Amino acid sequence: MKVTFPHMGNTYICAKALMDDFGIDYVIPPFNSKKTLEIGTKYAPELACLPLKINIGNFVQAHRQGADTMIITGGCGPCRFGYYSEMNREILKDIGCELDVIALEWPDQGLPEFLRRVKKLTGGLNVVKISRVLKDVTQIAKMMDDFERLSFRVRPREVHKGDTDRIYKAFLNKVLKTAGSSEIKKLIRDATSELLSIDMDRDFVPLKVGIVGEIYTTIDPFTNNNIASKLGNMGIEVDRQVTVSGWIIEHIIKNALHLPRDLRYAEAARPYLGTMIGGHAQETLGHTVLYAKEGYDGVIQVYPLTCMPEIVAESILPAVERDYDISVLTLIIDEMTGEAGYDTRIEAFVDLLKRRRERKNVGEATVLFGN
Ligand code: SF4
Repeated sequence: MKVTFPHMGNTYICAKALMDDFGIDYVIPPFNSKKTLEIGTKYAPELACLPLKINIGNFVQAHRQGADTMIITGGCGPCRFGYYSEMNREILKDIGCELDVIALEWPDQGLPEFLRRVKKLTGGLNVVKISRVLKDVTQIAKMMDDFERLSFRVRPREVHKGDTDRIYKAFLNKVLKTAGSSEIKKLIRDATSELLSIDMDRDFVPLKVGIVGEIYTTIDPFTNNNIASKLGNMGIEVDRQVTVSGWIIEHIIKNALHLPRDLRYAEAARPYLGTMIGGHAQETLGHTVLYAKEGYDGVIQVYPLTCMPEIVAESILPAVERDYDISVLTLIIDEMTGEAGYDTRIEAFVDLLKRRRERKNVGEATVLFGN
């Protein structure tokens, strides 16, 4: 059995740690690229969600590299994520891409079927080992998100432009040559120390922008044209609350153990959207409110064309903009999105935020010192 899995940002690092620790033979698909998207676009229905198209491309490319089994996740709706795993299976079968499927989702047949799938993947049901590996992988997801968040803070303040990207890229290169969760954790710790030792302008007060939207497009740098790094290199500090570790801890672990979840975003979104409609629409609205309350200068919503929950969120965001006086830019991505036009919109938005900040500073000075 040679297992593969789809890409979404840095999640391959967690998947790699998991496979290494269980001793599973695996193939990491080539990183997301125009070629991956081209393959997915060729085989998926035209109006399918962009992440599904990219995943199809991942599986076809991994199959060409010898993978015979794919791990997929799914959900129970209400958006199209609910039938992602079945669509992956059917599309790949139709194009003769013979991959055995291990769906890591809760099956209709209940616990016995779920355990059968875990056993198929891990080669046994050693509860102690499974718990230890899952704990390590969750820690890696958390450490990676912290590392990424640190890069969001350091990049706009670096004195020598490009230092953050250089350390980040070097880390990504090294992680591919590393095996097992303890080695990967050490590598993340080392890279974190390197980031902290970068020469920074600690007096610089950057504009702050929150990134919200559909999980895949906000997390995956290929899909969002490297938005976090782009903004950071323009001197903007970014933040993103929807993360892989958040998804593992809040949605999977806490749900499974019936532990109370951090639902501050849902509380903040309640006046605008009081119920979960799939995807991350409530998070988009709730985090926009929270960013406004925390004094952020703006928010960028990113989502793939036809994403139903984010279309709903986008239609409500003008009310949040008005109520909280925060600027919001929406970027919709599909396979036709050109980088130049995308960059122009981001640059125009940053100019707008700069002007707003200047006007605000002038207004505050006028109140303090009079005309
Ligand atoms: S959240 Fe949006 S992009 Fe993701 S599966 Fe649902 S509809 Fe598609």
